[in-house]
Amino acid sequence: MTAAPESIRDSLRAWIAGAWDPDLSLVAWRHRLVAAGWGAPSWPVEWHGAGLPTWADDVVREELLAAGAAGAPVGVGMALAAPTILAHGPDGVRAELLLPTLVGERSWCQLFSEPGAGSDLAGLTTTAERDGDEWVVSGQKVWNTSAHHADLGMLLARTDWGAPKHRGITYFVLPMHQPGVEVRPLRQMNNHASFNEVFLTEARIPAAWVVGAVGEGWRGALTTLAFERRFGAMTRPAYAPAAGRVLDEARREADEHFSTYAWYPQRAGRVDLVVERAQATGTASDPMIRQEIARLLSLQRASRWTAERARAALALGRTPGPEGSIGKLATSHVARQAAHVHTMGTGASSVLTGPDAPLGGTIAEILLSVPAQSIAGGTDEIQRNILGERALGLPREPSADRDLPFRTLPRNG
Ligand SMILES: Cc1cc2nc3c(=O)[nH]c(=O)nc-3n(C[C@H](O)[C@H](O)[C@H](O)COP(=O)(O)OP(=O)(O)OC[C@H]3O[C@@H](n4cnc5c(N)ncnc54)[C@H](O)[C@@H]3O)c2cc1C
Repeated sequence: MTAAPESIRDSLRAWIAGAWDPDLSLVAWRHRLVAAGWGAPSWPVEWHGAGLPTWADDVVREELLAAGAAGAPVGVGMALAAPTILAHGPDGVRAELLLPTLVGERSWCQLFSEPGAGSDLAGLTTTAERDGDEWVVSGQKVWNTSAHHADLGMLLARTDWGAPKHRGITYFVLPMHQPGVEVRPLRQMNNHASFNEVFLTEARIPAAWVVGAVGEGWRGALTTLAFERRFGAMTRPAYAPAAGRVLDEARREADEHFSTYAWYPQRAGRVDLVVERAQATGTASDPMIRQEIARLLSLQRASRWTAERARAALALGRTPGPEGSIGKLATSHVARQAAHVHTMGTGASSVLTGPDAPLGGTIAEILLSVPAQSIAGGTDEIQRNILGERALGLPREPSADRDLPFRTLPRNG
């Protein structure tokens, strides 16, 4: 297959004409896609892909939707777990878990944060010990999006308390449906419940379900976090309204997945509503508001260019770099400025909720959701630290605990 967008589109259209069967199950259709190299075109040929550049994934996704078909699933399995497993292996984990993720048989959540370890993620204390053919894990995770319906968890746990904090961590794949895993939903101030606490009490993991190597989990964690910084713009696939089992199941899968993320557009500030709203409220001619809207739209445009630069770097095969942190900071600024403009235009009634409130309560939901943008996937302050240290070459943040055995360190919680 030639790596040019038009020739990829032509080959895919020709293939769909012969292969599309709307009455297959979604999983059976995805197996057919994968067998032909269209499931995850940018993945290596030996791991279910076609070895094409990363941009080919978008071209194929668009073309499948335009043809009224369905592509690979959306979510942290494809966006975070699979790229980490592709990067770090080992082959046993790749062989067992990549295909079920790609066809949508296994969904994932991320089990990194703990009550005493968020920004200081390497301070985590959930512990795994080897017991014959298994690892046994105990501890507590928190803020785990979608853990209430995930099959597998990307889990960081400490396997060596005698090693320095970054070196005693192992990256596991945790089977979520087992007696040692208790998932408790948390309700947020915007009334949605996308997070959970996850309590692990002697939960079991097959010995081979280690990503990378034992004690090298920090490397895998950095890969996942780098991909996460680019992960904000997750959009629901626009499936054709046509009938058929593949599309019915794809729509149900998307409904389940996006019910968790229903508030994410509000989290990003709903810039799309700003001009319309200023016109509707008669504030579009107010010079102060016009100035703030202009500031917002310029910020948003600049942030899109940053995202484009990040995509271009990725398409050239570069691993995610400082563009990720810059882009993440930019989306926080855009979201905050959008909330500011919405409040200026709507005034005190911005805080009202319910059907009679401005925009049916959407403005209030924006105000209550925007703070999450500066926290999820690493806070604004942490992005600034990353940029200072890794992009600008400033001295590292002072740290007295990097080389000491973890068990000797003072800890939170
Ligand atoms: C929408 C959303 C989705 C999430 N999904 C997941 C998920 O699926 N899985 C998961 O594991 N976690 C998830 N999280 C958790 C998220 O990763 C953590 O909330 C985040 O890393 C911050 O950690 P913390 O909440 O413990 O805050 P803390 O680390 O306690 O930070 C508190 C404050 O101190 C500041 N601070 C801390 N350290 C420094 C420093 N060194 N320099 C300067 N300032 C500092 C922070 O910037 C922040 O303002 C999610 C969070 C949100 C909001």
